[in-house]
Amino acid sequence: MDKMDIFERETKYIFHTYDRQPVVITKGKGSKVWDINGKEYIDCVGGIAVCGVGHRNPFVVKRIKDQLDRLMHISNLYYTDISVDAAEKIAEISGMDKVFFCNSGTEAIEAALKLAIKHTSKNKFIAMKNAFHGRTIGALSVTYKEKFKKPFESFLTDACFVNYGDVSKIEEEIDEDTAAIILEPIQGESGVIVPPDGYLRAVREVCDKNDLLLIVDEVQTGFGRTGRWFAFQHEGIMPDIITMAKGMGGGFPVGAMAAKNDVADFEPGDHGTTFGGNPLACSAVLGVIEAINKDNLIEKSEKDGRYFKEKLIKLKKDVDFIDDVRGKGMMIGLSLNKDANALVSSVLNKGALINATSDKIIRLVPPFVITRDEIDRVVSYIAD
Ligand SMILES: *Cc1c(COP(=O)(O)O)cnc(C)c1O
Repeated sequence: MDKMDIFERETKYIFHTYDRQPVVITKGKGSKVWDINGKEYIDCVGGIAVCGVGHRNPFVVKRIKDQLDRLMHISNLYYTDISVDAAEKIAEISGMDKVFFCNSGTEAIEAALKLAIKHTSKNKFIAMKNAFHGRTIGALSVTYKEKFKKPFESFLTDACFVNYGDVSKIEEEIDEDTAAIILEPIQGESGVIVPPDGYLRAVREVCDKNDLLLIVDEVQTGFGRTGRWFAFQHEGIMPDIITMAKGMGGGFPVGAMAAKNDVADFEPGDHGTTFGGNPLACSAVLGVIEAINKDNLIEKSEKDGRYFKEKLIKLKKDVDFIDDVRGKGMMIGLSLNKDANALVSSVLNKGALINATSDKIIRLVPPFVITRDEIDRVVSYIAD
């Protein structure tokens, strides 16, 4: 197999919806991946905040393999032990009561929006400027970027957008049709934007005062990414509805919406998906939770994430191209005053994967199992 051949056939057979880095990845383990020529990379992208527990985490692999020998799929027409086990664990780690399983982040958002509409009989959402919630029509409605929405505008649900991190203007946007406020606890795709401390608590208060639901989108921040199971737990609040996906299956595609009992009004027929609660997906989720618990990965995400951030803050003092370093746990953003895509290319050549969310912003979302030595190496690759 030759790299150029793969590039050519990709262009021929796959829709051009992504611009890819010029590398063919064929293997991953822990915090490392290898390309088709056997070159090794330290992975600070982690499949876009997916492989928190590391590539091919042994707990996840074992659970999936065991499940493969029993049952791959059965549908929601029947009970399965494994989906109940996974839902019970999710309720335990999140404080939510009921779980709806789906297959991706955007589907989790669809479920959350539909549940909010069902529960409130209202259909307007207050979302945040620069928010990203996915690419299906409902999720696009509460996503900010014009570029993603323009061609599909006539189908979008009613949403208005307020400044992220600032509660003062939210109440002006509330009217009798408003069902819920939806937000990311840290904005991921727009470049790791961390709101001020107390922000989620203040939004929760606005929701309580005005009888609105609070939907917290934990698709990127969930499952240990920020040094808690879920990022809302930093603020000690309880949302009404949360969404999760990326890190949830350790690389296996799976998502979920979870809610408190008093809003969990779906009835049979209100929502569904053939693959939701799939036994392999649920075994992956159980493997991720087991891995995080057994290897103390939440603590590691918090501590080594802080180490990573401090190293970068130190680097910022030594170089002139970094304007800002921010983040929580293993979710770190850098604002640059030079071309972020050029930095991605040079770091790739040196042997690490990093991601540019825009021309000037780098996002680092490595597996939590990354070692301090690997962190030091990545910082040195970024340095020159
Ligand atoms: C990635 C992401 C989504 C969409 O998830 P997909 O699995 O790509 O559909 C939704 N919300 C947030 C916060 C995300 O980061």
